[in-house]
Order: sequence, then structure tokens, then C-alpha cells
Amino acid sequence: MNSPVRHLVLVLGDQLNPDASALVDFDPQQDAIWMAEVAEESTHVTSSKQRTTVFLSAMRHFAAALKSKKWPVHYSLLDAPDNTGTLAGELKQAIEATRPQKLIMTAPGDWRVLQSLRSVASQQGLVLEIRDDLHFFSTVREFAQHAEGRKQLRLEFFYRELRLKTGILMDGKTPVGGKWNFDSENRGSFGKAGPSNLPPPTRFAPDDITQDVLRLVQQKFEKHPGSLDTFGWPVTREQALLALGEFISNRLPHFGTYQDALWEGEVWLYHSHLACALNLKLLNPREVITAAVQAFERGHAPIEAVEGFVRQILGWREYVRGIYWTNMPGYLALNTADAHADLPDFYWTGDTDMACLRDAIAQTLKHGYAHHIQRLMVTGLYALLLGVDPKQVHAWYLGVYVDAVEWVELPNTLGMSQFADGGLMASKPYVASGKYIDRMSNHCKGCRFNPAESVGDNACPFTTLYWDYLNRHADQLAKNPRMLMQLKNLNRLSSEAKLQIAEEAALLRSK
Ligand SMILES: Cc1cc2nc3c(=O)[nH]c(=O)nc-3n(C[C@H](O)[C@H](O)[C@H](O)COP(=O)(O)OP(=O)(O)OC[C@H]3O[C@@H](n4cnc5c(N)ncnc54)[C@H](O)[C@@H]3O)c2cc1C
Ligand code: SF4
Repeated sequence: MNSPVRHLVLVLGDQLNPDASALVDFDPQQDAIWMAEVAEESTHVTSSKQRTTVFLSAMRHFAAALKSKKWPVHYSLLDAPDNTGTLAGELKQAIEATRPQKLIMTAPGDWRVLQSLRSVASQQGLVLEIRDDLHFFSTVREFAQHAEGRKQLRLEFFYRELRLKTGILMDGKTPVGGKWNFDSENRGSFGKAGPSNLPPPTRFAPDDITQDVLRLVQQKFEKHPGSLDTFGWPVTREQALLALGEFISNRLPHFGTYQDALWEGEVWLYHSHLACALNLKLLNPREVITAAVQAFERGHAPIEAVEGFVRQILGWREYVRGIYWTNMPGYLALNTADAHADLPDFYWTGDTDMACLRDAIAQTLKHGYAHHIQRLMVTGLYALLLGVDPKQVHAWYLGVYVDAVEWVELPNTLGMSQFADGGLMASKPYVASGKYIDRMSNHCKGCRFNPAESVGDNACPFTTLYWDYLNRHADQLAKNPRMLMQLKNLNRLSSEAKLQIAEEAALLRSK
């Protein structure tokens, strides 16, 4: 690329949609695209091998598709000898090579990246035009308007606004099925017999491009967590569409009922496994929701399942994005419970006697995946009850999951799971004893601990730490009407019992 280009369009690893706002007026005769693989994105938090592979492989496939259309792409390979290792360094080099009049990009999903690219543009005296991300149903401005003047933000209100705005699952102004929310029907467990006839997951054998990336990641990030033996994530739009089709046909009808259920050794259950393809923008949430709603309309899936699924994407996904962008950069530093314990080492190995944690962490390291309740009520809950520094918890979640991008990971971790924003995102801390895990899974049957015991050799650490958490935070929690029942149960414990629990909890924390 010797002659100056008109626009250099920046495309990040999670912006792999050819219809992105940054590309609507792209002219291959005058413009060029910039994409860069850099080590910093795998090391600013320690990224698992599966996560790094997903990003790099999907980027390479996307760049190949652009090049096949003869679109000029200025692409930095991770192992190129002159790779500077940072997005800022690679962008500077690309600007020197292409001498653009202007930089254009779709709004990124990470505050840190936005700051870094902005500062390169200003150092180079270039305008960086940032366009709305049309992938989402709402804009950050709409969320900010919704939030203005509200003392508390709640998913339910924002979700209903979006249902009305989009007409999704609406009959005029009335929600289809007569209710906005089918959550109470969506809390089933598998019962003693466990799940049967689970559909196999949709996995894709690595092609040549992915094989190259697998070798590169194994060599360059050898010490990073996780393994690559089972890599099978969709890395192209075609694969993502196949995964969507198979989810709608085989899993969606049971998605609602078993949304919260867990079962030892069963990784995939009835979840969609689409978060990664959605967050890389290989799939558009509109086509995902349309496919689910059509399945309801043709009688293939019940309203409970379809509303439950729509709520995750039209509701939670949009809501957490609004929380992130209206509260950054301060949000990252929040730690309202003043929690400072270190994340236990076993989060990086799965080496623990606690069967539920062992299972969730092992599959996380193997596949870069765990479903929502494993993240919220197993790994997240334990860190919350133990009092781990939320920044360390955040670094773990951002590093280990294939679908992790900061705009969606941070509010889920810091707000929903660790309650470290003091209730901005969630109306109460998601705290429970081991009995909750026992009710929703079969983990406790094969565990050396007993979920019903809070003290003694067999005490379940979740149960000990649960009572201790309520006791330590009782004054603060008493202000929250949604916590009154749990506090009432705490007050049934004698002072001696509370003291013994506090001693055993301190022991757990010191390990
Ligand atoms: C501590 C913690 C960290 C999380 N980190 C991430 C993350 O980095 N990236 C991510 O996409 N999700 C994250 N989530 C949300 C959720 O757990 C995942 O989206 C989900 O488990 C992905 O699996 P799936 O695609 O099979 O989802 P399904 O259960 O099939 O749900 C369907 C889709 O709904 C969306 N969704 C569901 N729940 C949420 C939610 N709470 N917030 C936003 N979108 C949601 C996802 O796009 C998902 O693909 C996190 C949740 C917790 C509690
Ligand atoms: S007994 Fe406690 S630690 Fe063991 S599986 Fe059940 S909840 Fe997890």
C-alpha cells in the first residue's frame, strides 16, 4: 500500500461483521481495513488458550473473506517479526504505511481499547470517527436516558421498554402469552435420574486456518491456562449459522425448564453456546431472536423457553452493555464490600475437593465455557462468599471464557456476581448455601462435603461461608427488603453457632 488511503477502517477482533457501521461506506478503491493480532490482548489479563484461539481464528477467517472480495486489508500477524505486541503500536505502523486522511471504527467493546486507539489518533493528528454499533437493539444514549433520574436500575424495566420498542413477543402493547416474565417456570432441575437424550453439542473440526492458530497459540502462550485438544467453536459466520439452527431445532424447546440446572460432567445441556459467536458479531441478535420467535410461532418451542431465551439477549445482553458504558471507567474500580482476599489458586487448575467447583472449573479450562448458573452460583458465588477482591475475579472471568469481552463480562462479574457495585446492577447479592447447589444438581452426592452442614469436618465450605457472609454484612443487608427472609434464618442461629461458623470461615479464608 504505497499511495495514501482515504479512510483506514479499524476492525477489532470482536467486530467481525461485514455490515458493521464502520464499513457501510467502505470503498475498496480508496479505503483500507486495519486488523491486528497482538500479544497484549492475551496478556493484559491472562487469556486462556481457547479464548485466544477463538479470536485469532475468527479474525483470520474474516480477513480472508474480505481479501477474497479484493478489499485491501492491512493485517498484523501475531508472530510477524516486527509486531510491536500492542494495538497502539500496530496502529501507528499501519498509519505510517497507509497515510490515511481519517480513521473510522465502530464503537469498541472495551474502554481500555477505546482510550488506547483514541490516543494514537490524537498523537498522529488524525480524526477518529466512532460510529454507533448497530449490532445492538439499543444505543448507550437510550440506556443513559432510561437510567436518568432512577434511583435503582432494574433489568425488568429496561427489558419491557425494549419489548415495546421492538415489538418482539408483543401483541400490540400486551406481551405474548399474557406475561412479561416466565422465570418461575424456568427453574427446573433434572431430578434424580438426571438428563436423558441430551442433544450432542454443535462442534466444528478445525480447518487449516484454525490448525495454524492452534499451533501458534500453543507455542506462544504455552503457560496460559486451558487446553486445546477439544477446540470446536464456530469461527465463521457459516458455522455460527449452523450452530444457531441446531440450537433452535434441538435445544430451545427445553432451554427454559433447565436454564438453571447443573449436572456433573454435562457441559452443554440445553444452552445455546452462542454467546461467543454473538460477541464476535458473527451472528446478529436480531436473527437469533427471530429464529427463536419463529420456533414458538410454529409450535416447536413453548413460550416459557422462548421468552426465557429472548430475555437473555434482548434483556440482559443490552442491559449489561448500558451499565458498562454509562459507568466506565469508575466501574472497574468499585469494591463496595471492601473485599481483598486473593482468588484461590485452584481457579486456575480445578484442583479442589469441592465437587461443584471442580466440575465447573475443569470444563471451563477444557472448553472455555460454563453456563450462566455455573458462573453465577458456583465459581462466582464461592468468590463472593470468600470475599475475593473483585478485580481478581474480573481478571479470571475475562481471561477464561471464549465469549468474554469486557462490556459484557465486567457488569456480570462485578455487578451481578460479586455485588461489588453496591446494587447498581442487581437488586440483591446472589448468595446461597450449598443447599442451593444440591437442589439444582447432583454434585453434592459425589462430594466429600455435606451441603446441610455449616461446621465440622464435613461442612460444605459454601454453607459455612454463606452464614458467615450474612453475619458479616447483616447491618448493610438489613436495609434490603429482599434479604429479610435470609436474615431471619440467620437470626435463628445461636451466638455460639455464629461464632463457630466465623472461626471455620476464617480458616477457609486463610487456606
Ligand atoms: C460472572 C459472570 C460472567 C459472565 N461473563 C460473560 C461474558 O464474558 N460474556 C458473555 O457473553 N456472557 C457472560 N456472562 C453471561 C452468561 O453467563 C453467558 O452469556 C452464557 O453463559 C453464555 O453461554 P450460552 O451462549 O450457552 O448462553 P445461553 O444460556 O444459551 O443464553 C443465550 C444468550 O443470552 C445472552 N446472555 C445470557 N445471559 C446473559 C447475561 N447475564 N449477560 C449478557 N448476555 C447474556 C448470551 O448472549 C447467550 O449466548 C457472565 C455471567 C456471569 C454470572
Ligand atoms: S457439598 Fe458443597 S462443595 Fe460439595 S458439591 Fe455440594 S455445594 Fe459443592
